[in-house]
Amino acid sequence: MHAWAMAMGNRLDFILAGYVLFFDCSLCRILTIHLLQLAMNSINGIVGAQGNQPLLSFGVISDVQYADISDGRSFLGVPRYYRHSIFVLQRAVQYWQNQQKLKFVVNFGDIVDGFCPKDQSLTAVKKVLNEFDNFNGPVYHMIGNHCLYNLPRNELLPLLNIPSISGHAYYDFSPIPEYRFVVLDGYDISAIGWPQDHPHSVKAQKFLLEKNPNSDKNSPSGLVDLARRFLMFNGAVGKEQLDWLDCILKDATRSNQLVVICCHLPLDPGTSSKESLLWNYDEVMEVIHRYSCVKVCLAGHDHKGGHSIDSHGVHHRVLEAALECPPGTNAFGYVDVFDNRLSLIGTDRMESTEMAFTSLQ
Ligand SMILES: [Zn+2]
Repeated sequence: MHAWAMAMGNRLDFILAGYVLFFDCSLCRILTIHLLQLAMNSINGIVGAQGNQPLLSFGVISDVQYADISDGRSFLGVPRYYRHSIFVLQRAVQYWQNQQKLKFVVNFGDIVDGFCPKDQSLTAVKKVLNEFDNFNGPVYHMIGNHCLYNLPRNELLPLLNIPSISGHAYYDFSPIPEYRFVVLDGYDISAIGWPQDHPHSVKAQKFLLEKNPNSDKNSPSGLVDLARRFLMFNGAVGKEQLDWLDCILKDATRSNQLVVICCHLPLDPGTSSKESLLWNYDEVMEVIHRYSCVKVCLAGHDHKGGHSIDSHGVHHRVLEAALECPPGTNAFGYVDVFDNRLSLIGTDRMESTEMAFTSLQ
């Protein structure tokens, strides 16, 4: 309990004691009831201010996967509305603007679908980014596999305004002193997006050859349990990025900051299908669990969405995809950030989720 609450609790005990002492004097009784009411209002006022006023709010959307092509289905048969998804994004931007309190927006990747004809890729990416530009504040992007099917990293990162050194797409930012946001690059080690002879592509191709015996490396056929994540449309966080993450979390701990991790690929098997996980989610979580500053990991990629709390009390929330919204429906939201919880307010297909920080860490 906070010191102020202890103090107010003591004041209340004192007043309650007074109530009992002066109970038989009617004038004192009225006065004491009045004082008691004032004390209760005062406590409620303080609790209200602490509990209801977010430190910060930001908008979220994931997997817009726009393309100017007819509706289709995923490999699991789930309908996909490629042309409609940009309308979902337009409504999202309007909704975020209407809130009038959002400091920024985080887009969790896959803005354009892999089926977009390649001669239209650049136009489609720019069209989606123009919609994001209608938001009156910064938009933090991350790359997804579908972005990389359309454009190589060196073209994509400047368009998405991702700060980059030698093609890497991981970065962090601190919108308020109490919080740090870490954006991971889940396709750091990947067979897509890099030139074929780039060391990170060569490493990924070798990894897939070892882990996935299928000729189609996007097929999980024959792969068992968690090994079903070893698919070409996923990727890994490389050694350099893991070391960087460790440094950031060490610094956040020193600075008393709470951390939110954002990654296109999910990091917890409890939230996501096995086929959608980051290849080395376990290594990333081992680094995260060294510290108690990380409270929430947010992701996209697994379109159905999900929420779990891992063994260290860290929340994992995978966001529902804008692409799979039937015409007229939505999937976006915003997050209210408090010192003890994150509260996701979703629309339609994006479920609202309370993420209270636990004391397990
Ligand atoms: Zn994806």
